Amino acid sequence: MKFLVTTSLPSFHVGSKPPTYIHFSHVSSDLSIPLTSPQSVDVWICNGDEVTGYHMDRWLSQASHIPKSMLVQDATNIPRLQEFAKGRVAEIAAFPKREPAISASEWEESILRDAEMLYARARANAASQQASVNGTKGHARKTSVVLVGAGIMNLMTAQLLVDRGYHVRVVDQGPDPRSTQPGDWTCLGVTSGGHNARMFTNTEADNYNEQHSELYQDMQSIFRKSVRDGGWSVKNPKEFSAAEHAWVEAFERVPPWMAATFKKNIHEVNREAGKLWRELINSAPHLFEDVGFHDDIIRLYVESVALDKSVELHKNLGALLKDPSPQEFLTAHPRFRPAAESDHLAGGLIVDGFTVNVHLFVAKLINHITALGGEFVWDCKVEGIQRSPSGEVTALKSQKGNLEADHYVVSPGTTGSALLHGTASENLVQGVLGIWLQIPNLEPQLRNSMKIHRRGHKVEDINVTVAKDQQTGEDILIFGGGYGYVGLDRPAHDSPDLNALYDELEEVARIYFPQAYAAAKKRGPTAMYPGGHRKYCVRPFTPTGLGLFEKIPTAGGGQLIITGGNNTGGFAQAPAIARAVLRSFLGEHDPIHVLFHPDRGKLPPAVTYRSRTPSPSPILGSSSLNGKSQQQTPLKLLLLCSDGPNHRYLRYRLDQAFPGYRCIVEPNAGQIRHLVSKGRTLDAYWQRYHGLRRQLLGHSRQRSAHFDKLIRAGHVSPPPDLVVDTVNCAAVWDAVERWQPEITIVSGTKFIGKKLIARAGLMINLHTGHLPEYKGNHCIFFALYDGQVDKVASTLHQLTSTLDGGDVLDRVFPVVEAGDNEETLYTKCLEMSIDRVVEHVARFAKGERLEFVPQRAQGRTFRHSDRTPGKELWLWWRLNVGGLLSKAGSGKEEAESE
Ligand SMILES: Cc1cc2nc3c(=O)[nH]c(=O)nc-3n(C[C@H](O)[C@H](O)[C@H](O)COP(=O)(O)OP(=O)(O)OC[C@H]3O[C@@H](n4cnc5c(N)ncnc54)[C@H](O)[C@@H]3O)c2cc1C
Repeated sequence: MKFLVTTSLPSFHVGSKPPTYIHFSHVSSDLSIPLTSPQSVDVWICNGDEVTGYHMDRWLSQASHIPKSMLVQDATNIPRLQEFAKGRVAEIAAFPKREPAISASEWEESILRDAEMLYARARANAASQQASVNGTKGHARKTSVVLVGAGIMNLMTAQLLVDRGYHVRVVDQGPDPRSTQPGDWTCLGVTSGGHNARMFTNTEADNYNEQHSELYQDMQSIFRKSVRDGGWSVKNPKEFSAAEHAWVEAFERVPPWMAATFKKNIHEVNREAGKLWRELINSAPHLFEDVGFHDDIIRLYVESVALDKSVELHKNLGALLKDPSPQEFLTAHPRFRPAAESDHLAGGLIVDGFTVNVHLFVAKLINHITALGGEFVWDCKVEGIQRSPSGEVTALKSQKGNLEADHYVVSPGTTGSALLHGTASENLVQGVLGIWLQIPNLEPQLRNSMKIHRRGHKVEDINVTVAKDQQTGEDILIFGGGYGYVGLDRPAHDSPDLNALYDELEEVARIYFPQAYAAAKKRGPTAMYPGGHRKYCVRPFTPTGLGLFEKIPTAGGGQLIITGGNNTGGFAQAPAIARAVLRSFLGEHDPIHVLFHPDRGKLPPAVTYRSRTPSPSPILGSSSLNGKSQQQTPLKLLLLCSDGPNHRYLRYRLDQAFPGYRCIVEPNAGQIRHLVSKGRTLDAYWQRYHGLRRQLLGHSRQRSAHFDKLIRAGHVSPPPDLVVDTVNCAAVWDAVERWQPEITIVSGTKFIGKKLIARAGLMINLHTGHLPEYKGNHCIFFALYDGQVDKVASTLHQLTSTLDGGDVLDRVFPVVEAGDNEETLYTKCLEMSIDRVVEHVARFAKGERLEFVPQRAQGRTFRHSDRTPGKELWLWWRLNVGGLLSKAGSGKEEAESE
């Protein structure tokens, strides 16, 4: 999301003093952009009278496929602006009114909030329009739906759809939870894999990005500290992958005004869901019979400040049922007197909400859906979304064959990240685990389920659910809570941070239910764990706290909808999501289509990207502006490559896509000559040796044949602009200085020095190897040598003066087949990376920003001399005798984009 700010409001000015609201953690990632920036702008916040028709045309011609909106201070300008816009601006709205009671800064924040909402609305409406244009393709009502994932999110959706006459088929990679043994919980999603308890309250899902809050001052760094250090991470932050770093950074960069909006939006969805739960309880009471339904929730607070804040919040949400004084509360609930006397309780309230034993409820839903003709397919992993060349969904690829339907709903919880590749929801959902334990519900029994809030403790929010043990029928209390970020991983069973969470949850049970805790302890060390199993389960979290709702049109006129990521309130919000899906299929509006759009909160990355965008072409304020529209100039592209068969193919692709690009070739023979001239004869020898090896083994011939087949017969690339022994020379520096490329593709050259880097614009290197682990040469060889078949990949990254150390743009993974060897895999990686870089450069040419993720881990660097004949033999043995690739075949036809 990018704003262009041209109003004269003081706090929006980007000057020497940091702006108050629009500034993020890094100067170069400021949300507002300078008037002369060439980047695509989503919302223009303006006074109104400074905008001319020329400015408007310039702005709208940038990345014209991106929906754009305007927020105008002086509303009298709106008709004039609409004339200039000629229907090309999604929405032109006036600034919010300044109420006399609010301060200038509050008003200015509300302008930013409105601008953010314009952005979200424009994105969501563009997706809806696209879906409805497609929807007119077939006139018949679209009624068949494939749902991927049988967690609570999709079960509630399937239930609503089946009730409305849709034919649903629910596909899940796990087994039928109704017949799964307690010990097999790890093969289930979070809904069925956790314990048998879930709660609805109006604050069940929340935004945990509490910045500038009175209660939470240091939430920003919470995911970078381990549980034992007072944070929320079970994964060691030093071991975060690049995608995990990116997720945590995205969380940290949400500014306070935006976090406050997200919190409000999440509560709005909770409230709407609450109404729908009540309607369902009334209209389908059978679903709630014999599932341990308990109404009204007791909330306990350790600190009075938190209690007071909660009273205020629940009043605002219309969810406060009783607000007794601490004395009244203890008189009504004397069991908690010892906790109050030991300073563990400041007071409590009664709020709107209910709990169910979710495993029983899930079984009810599955039976109900089946009874109405719905189908379930268990143990069937859905591997990918298949699309037509224009991006419309054609089918889902699954282990049991292609799945086709009018519509699709994909809600894969935390384990479906590969499935979401290529969607706007990709990489948004990561895991934050919670843990469980149980104790007997001794006389006098607790009748209402509860929530305990203990700010600043290792387990802050605990749900205590009144339930029955499914195996023994005993009345129990189920404790669930704790936050442990695991990213895209799962924790080791003996993780010390996980142990710290369990210890703390036991402590909570001991403080508030001492007798029941003692009784459970007496029964043995595992008596407190469900079925004797120490369970944790991993909630799907997004960095914004918002759930996901993404619509993608299908080729047949239907929709594929992605939902999920509802953090601590997936159960609570499920009926609201279900209704939003139904409304989308019916072409109706639902606020969730906007509120949970996956592009919300996507802020510019905190890296310098001035060098990553096409060269400046001013929008506003430049003296060169003369009011006449200017022609868009072609992209200034430079290729630095060697002279291998893959480089011929790369040039062939660029000849077609970007005719007129510049090309400098550093041939293999020239590289060797240059090494010799520098006295690096040993390096020259190794390079020559590998050339001969490839020739003798027939690999050079195979590689040539492979790429020649891809080049249209008779095609001849234009001669390169320069052929040099090394690109680090004055002839190249001068030429590149003259050409001023906006983007440079690098493939197969030797190390590039700072002088060239400084002149070549954004440089993207095609590295055949999985970064950050495998740097340098022969990275496919060494990945196989290490047995790391999943690290057979090419990485596109920004070329910097650190060898293979620049930020990662993308990775491509070839399908690994049983008949493959190092050479075939290497060739596949080369081809895929070439095709992928051409796609990225095309996006860049259209004005889209390329997003890069920093490399965090160090990795190893391999030289030509590391690949010795001995290692060659060892790999030969691993491949041909050890059968390293013999299990391959299904392969993973995935390409990660970070
Ligand atoms: C300790 C704890 C307590 C909680 N308490 C509450 C509470 O009281 N109230 C509340 O509202 N929320 C609560 N939550 C959160 C809630 O449980 C989750 O938000 C919710 O269950 C998520 O449901 P889901 O359908 O999104 O995901 P899941 O239940 O994980 O379902 C996703 C399904 O998709 C399947 N799948 C994934 N990938 C594929 C694929 N490629 N092909 C086929 N199938 C696939 C998985 O097997 C899984 O069954 C709690 C969470 C924890 C950890």
